[in-house]
Amino acid sequence: MVETLLDKIWRVHTVRMLPSGQTQLFIGLHLIHEVTSPQAFEMIREANLAVRFPERIFATIDHIVPTASQLRPFGDVLAEEMTVHLVRNCKEFGIQLFDLDSGRQGIVHVIGPELGLTQPGMTIACGDSHTSTHGALGALAFGIGTSQLRDVLATQCLAMEKPKVRQIRVEGQLARGVYAKDVILTIIQRLGVKGGVGYAYEYAGPVVEAMSMEERLTVCNMSIEGGARVGYVNPDATTFNYLKGRPFAPRDGAFDRAVAWWKNMATEPGAPFDDVFCLDGGSIQPMVTWGINPGQSIGVGDRIPHPADAPEADRSAWAEALEFMSFEPGRTLAGVPINVAFIGSCTNARLSDLRAAAEVARGRKVAKGVRALVVPGSQAVAKVAEAEGLHVIFEEAGFEWRKAGCSLCLGMNEDKLKGREICASSSNRNFKGRQGSPTGRTLLMSPVMVAAAAIAGEVTDVREVLA
Ligand code: SF4
Repeated sequence: MVETLLDKIWRVHTVRMLPSGQTQLFIGLHLIHEVTSPQAFEMIREANLAVRFPERIFATIDHIVPTASQLRPFGDVLAEEMTVHLVRNCKEFGIQLFDLDSGRQGIVHVIGPELGLTQPGMTIACGDSHTSTHGALGALAFGIGTSQLRDVLATQCLAMEKPKVRQIRVEGQLARGVYAKDVILTIIQRLGVKGGVGYAYEYAGPVVEAMSMEERLTVCNMSIEGGARVGYVNPDATTFNYLKGRPFAPRDGAFDRAVAWWKNMATEPGAPFDDVFCLDGGSIQPMVTWGINPGQSIGVGDRIPHPADAPEADRSAWAEALEFMSFEPGRTLAGVPINVAFIGSCTNARLSDLRAAAEVARGRKVAKGVRALVVPGSQAVAKVAEAEGLHVIFEEAGFEWRKAGCSLCLGMNEDKLKGREICASSSNRNFKGRQGSPTGRTLLMSPVMVAAAAIAGEVTDVREVLA
């Protein structure tokens, strides 16, 4: 029987079928951070349980860590307390922590792949919605809640329902100035923020096959924003080349044996899908969100839609979004003034993102009155970027060059919007209040579009800047 990658990974990780109809699934890799783990460790202690496979768990500090200065103790008492808990829990239970002095700290979904912890054919769990990111390497990666986190700590297993699989084929090729972020925003716009509920998304087709690993990470990262808890790309030469030589990847003969197994895990030709969705890559434009969920987006030159044109079920949500954003239907987003520009997050803070944004910033100046931040996804990204002089390009243009962390992606650290500020952001969520101000407004876009907006002081079509 021909199988998808999901079928195969599910089969080889099944411990048993549960009376509930769920599968007890073994989890190969568990990634933890300071925000969602303390309660789970407390539950373990209260139940007098041990951590079952500490060698399969890795920790980092990302959500609450300040990115201006990371000297301890942190100024924010709560952030310091969470960090103290994480350090103590890792020490007590024998878990490897990539602490601030390790050179390996960073956003959990950036460091997993970059350290070679994330590998094809794996099951991965993490107490964060954007765990779907790791599927870019051909893994099944699930975001989990606190009680599931406890379960994985205690048993290294999860009780899961097997999702259906929708193959999303992106055909043709992307135009200049169009990036992986635009691809995933377009997919979510077309299929809706709930379209993927109950599905895993398998991304395929010539555009995805031609993407670098970092671009695939951007696409898989936002699967959850389309309702799909899992998104993946079949492992191929791009995957194997990316992993070779990474600190936790197999070495020498073991690497060759791993590649043979990884190849075997890919979806076979003729494997059945529960659904197939095709998209013409050549039709995708640089995308910008106009609303309060990542599905409410348009091409930068398109006009904001009118709620009357929405499917009936979405009409009130569109009207609510327009009211919150103070946007009139019928206008384009190009020309909307911004207050803040944020290049960062687990969606778009990898080296290739920073390189592309730096090309836009090079020799230009951030517009007066715009606060512009570049926050590398990890210490490793920052190190290479600095060696290449990217920080100098950004700083000369007037961007702040920060230390690794989640920063302005969410309002859990010192970086927050103020009042009604509008932020051009390379992150993944534009929910009300997401960036720390209950009334702040987020426009999601690619990192090059953020850089272009920072320079112009307003939303701008980056294709005109690159021309
Ligand atoms: S960068 Fe944002 S989405 Fe990613 S892990 Fe951090 S808070 Fe979550």
